Amino acid sequence: LAQLYGPLNQLGYIYRSVNQSLVDTEKLLALLNEPTEVNDKENAADLVVYNGEIEFENVHFSYDGRASALNGVSFKVPKGGSLALVGESGAGKSTILRLLYRFYDLGEGQGRILIDGQDIRDVTQKSLRQAIGVVPQDSVLFNSSIRYNIGYGKFNATMEEIEAAAKSAQMHERIMSFPEGYNTKVGERGIRLSGGEKQRVAIARTLLKNPPILLLDEATSALDTSTEKDIQKALQNLVKGRSSVSIAHRLSTIASADVILVLKDGQVAEQGNFKELIELDGLFASMWADQISSNDELAVSFSDTSVK
Ligand code: ATP
Repeated sequence: LAQLYGPLNQLGYIYRSVNQSLVDTEKLLALLNEPTEVNDKENAADLVVYNGEIEFENVHFSYDGRASALNGVSFKVPKGGSLALVGESGAGKSTILRLLYRFYDLGEGQGRILIDGQDIRDVTQKSLRQAIGVVPQDSVLFNSSIRYNIGYGKFNATMEEIEAAAKSAQMHERIMSFPEGYNTKVGERGIRLSGGEKQRVAIARTLLKNPPILLLDEATSALDTSTEKDIQKALQNLVKGRSSVSIAHRLSTIASADVILVLKDGQVAEQGNFKELIELDGLFASMWADQISSNDELAVSFSDTSVK
């Protein structure tokens, strides 16, 4: 019996961790919040990414067939470009990310979403999701080592690759301060990481995955200044050379975006870079003025930021 105990115990452990992984994978997609409802077409081809150009062409969408969540949204993100989505709650920001990740398919007459000219309804979900990295607002960790948590981004990642990703995500030094370095357990049953640290783990994981397209849902909660700097640097390393669409709350993301899309009631109210939208003196400029007057710290970092 004693001889059986070890393997059984191990089996139990494997079962628990597999089970936990499934739960965690679901949570990982919590940004998108919905079970997937789309089916691939028969003989659907794989998406082939040449440049990572994203285009929304007059997109209309409703969750319930009545109230409209998006009402004629068009934009283009060129190769390596960054798009920041801003707008009040319910304006349609998350819907744009969900549609791009294909949690719902657009119906006839609801416009088109294209990646490098290919309608995403015509390609396999698997190939689409392989091409897209998601950094959610609240990243979930597996109850396993930090090494596993980062390495999850790429099948068979080597230790060198994991370390390089952690360095680029500004997380390596923190990991080296853990009692067992990269073998330290994190998650509910291990070392608890702060929100900013979890986010950097998610960034490292995504760096390993190396997708040409990124979807980012920035945390709304304020982080202390040094964590904020680390995250900014990690994000800069991540978005470099990739096309990105962010639900943007961070000043640095908004100020450095190639295009800011200001959404209101499912429509594009304004579109331009930071300087252009401030000069336009419309909705974005007034949202911005409100932000600054309600947050002195933001005002300070605002003056520090070089704006295009
Ligand atoms: P927030 O900043 O609060 O996350 P958002 O700009 O991301 O808001 P969306 O979540 O895209 O807004 O919502 C757009 C519209 O669609 C809203 O009117 C919202 O109530 C509606 N909506 C969002 N998700 C669902 C859903 N699962 N079922 C029905 N309606 C939904």
